Amino acid sequence: MVAEKLEALTKLQAIDSKIESIKKVRGALPDEVRDLEDELAGYETRLQKFEEENAAFNQDIEDKKTGIKDSEALIKKYEEQQMNVRNNREYDAITKEMELQTLEIQVSEKRIKEAYARIDEKKEDVDATKAKTKERGADLKAKKAELNTLLTESEADELKLGKERKRASKVIEERLLLAYNKLRINARNGLAVVNVKRGACGGCFNVVPPQRQADVKEQKKIIVCEHCGRVFAGVDIEPIVEKPKAKRTVRKKAAPKTTTAKAEPKTTAAKAATKTTAEKAAPKTAAK
Ligand SMILES: [Zn+2]
Repeated sequence: MVAEKLEALTKLQAIDSKIESIKKVRGALPDEVRDLEDELAGYETRLQKFEEENAAFNQDIEDKKTGIKDSEALIKKYEEQQMNVRNNREYDAITKEMELQTLEIQVSEKRIKEAYARIDEKKEDVDATKAKTKERGADLKAKKAELNTLLTESEADELKLGKERKRASKVIEERLLLAYNKLRINARNGLAVVNVKRGACGGCFNVVPPQRQADVKEQKKIIVCEHCGRVFAGVDIEPIVEKPKAKRTVRKKAAPKTTTAKAEPKTTAAKAATKTTAEKAAPKTAAK
């Protein structure tokens, strides 16, 4: 029962690892495409805002021009009135009105000038934004094409793997599947199911005590790594004979062999240590 569960989990893990490796090929490309799209949308908004601002400035200029024409018409009317005044007081009153309109014209002219200056200022921004839009637009087009090629290439594989994944998930009980998915999301290397390799967890590389290793081999219940929580599918069988080239490996290999599975780790290490010393000394005597 447990063996079947572990087999199903191992299968699912293999499928997920394949899916992951396909996604890895795409690398940062999907993110880059999304970033460029966001950037271009920002420029679009900015250009739209420029247009609205420009329209407001132009409207202001038109209004001021109309105002100037009105003032000029008034001044003309006052000039005519001044011809027919009856006394100095009336003449002075009209002169004041004319001065007021002249002042009005001056203010309007100043405003128009300012509005044109602002439009020119904006034009530089608009041109710069347009140039950037063009440049980034070309980048986006290229990256999108690249991504599309990759997507098309792997489409069939991904579809197949997706179906396989569904099938493999079906035979795993929901609680276990949930735990598996959670583990996989949190695991940096995307592995939720690993083997014990060289006495260590295949996911986080922490040492797995011999008793735990024995439990994994027994497959009576699901054993997880006490450090990272990954599920142990099995214990990798290691070659019995190793070339004496790598001494460190020899020592590690020797440990489980010399002791029974239930031995304490401390004694194992001690025994292994003595053994290495013995081995070191051995070839000399043998040579003579
Ligand atoms: Zn671990």
